[in-house]
Amino acid sequence: MKKTTSWVEIDPNSDFSIYNIPFGVFKKGEQIGAGSAIGEFVIDLNYLQSKGYFASIELPTGIFRQPTLNEFIGLGKPITNAVREGLITLFSNDNQELQSNEEDKANCLIPMADVEMLMPVKVPNYTDFYSSIEHATNVGTMFRDPDNALLPNWKHIPVGYHGRPSSIIVSGTPIKRPKGQTKALDATEPSFGPTQRLDFELEMAFVTSQNTNLGESISTQEAEDYIFGFVLFNDWSARDVQVWEYVPLGPFLSKNFGSSVSPWIITLEALEYIKVESPAQDPKVLPYLEAGGKKNFDINLQVSIQPQESEENIVSNSNFKYMYWNINQQLAHHTVNGCNIEVGDMYASGTISGPTPDSYGSMLELAWKGTKPIKMNDGTERKFINDGDTVIMRGYAEKDGKRVGFGEVKTLILPAD
Ligand code: CA
Repeated sequence: MKKTTSWVEIDPNSDFSIYNIPFGVFKKGEQIGAGSAIGEFVIDLNYLQSKGYFASIELPTGIFRQPTLNEFIGLGKPITNAVREGLITLFSNDNQELQSNEEDKANCLIPMADVEMLMPVKVPNYTDFYSSIEHATNVGTMFRDPDNALLPNWKHIPVGYHGRPSSIIVSGTPIKRPKGQTKALDATEPSFGPTQRLDFELEMAFVTSQNTNLGESISTQEAEDYIFGFVLFNDWSARDVQVWEYVPLGPFLSKNFGSSVSPWIITLEALEYIKVESPAQDPKVLPYLEAGGKKNFDINLQVSIQPQESEENIVSNSNFKYMYWNINQQLAHHTVNGCNIEVGDMYASGTISGPTPDSYGSMLELAWKGTKPIKMNDGTERKFINDGDTVIMRGYAEKDGKRVGFGEVKTLILPAD
């Protein structure tokens, strides 16, 4: 990637450098529309289009005034990439077109503090994978057998399940502690009440950019053509409900009460430069899952817990590069049977745990099933998440002095009714 600088003043630690140029949906007063981000500003894409800055790109009128990005994303990568590249050019130091127009500059740049970010897409379908070998090993060790922590299928199939798109919410939306049915190990009968083991799951999700027809499959080689970009994804989980309900068909009410996402979709193209080799897979995967080369992403991930009226406590530092199964394999596996995909679908990675105890991606693992409580700076301890806690996830990539970040996904937990 060529080193470019912008005429917008950007802090070196900003997630929204000129190399990023993500897409999201913002609300300012009554105005809702598609935006990008640079430094501390949201870029009003509808304004730029109305002033002819995208004249060379085939864009329908009003495409940036939709309440979601689905229609824009559905125009296809040649168009969406042209918009992103056009923005990089417009905001580059060596380009005068927008830089020298004071009125347009003032109108298209909105301070981030003045807007509310909305869900970037309407999510037609949501799938949750289980692709971190460290996470699957930790959970298998805790709940089954340390000597056979991974089930026999795990290294042959990118294991996943179909989740609930209706309860995917954007950062800043609080979640009420869910109630459900649980059964303590020593109890003879189940009981009902607010979950006592509310947990986060640190994940990333990719968003798809094309519809396919039922019966079609996407190969590992083609997968990237169908992926628009990524968001941070907090897959909230009620562990006590999960343990009681999950056999034989997997999680149900323990997962469908809410999943929180970061508002900016970072494009696959913006992340191309931080791709790294995927971990070696042994045993060898079946031919339809073969995907050699740099298919993983070196993205630093962090989780904080902020107790009510107190400061943030960093509880985990992980990295997306640890994933055993990569996104090409996930999408190829998902569609190998002819399952169709849609624009705006979200495919979550599964909890991203690293190899060391401070890099685990859930409280279940960090506090090891409640046996190793985590100390907060205010003197309290956490085994799981309390009412009044805010959980914040952040992520960014950095290489050769170029930073591309995700911002954050932040969720306050309210007490049950
Ligand atoms: Ca999950």
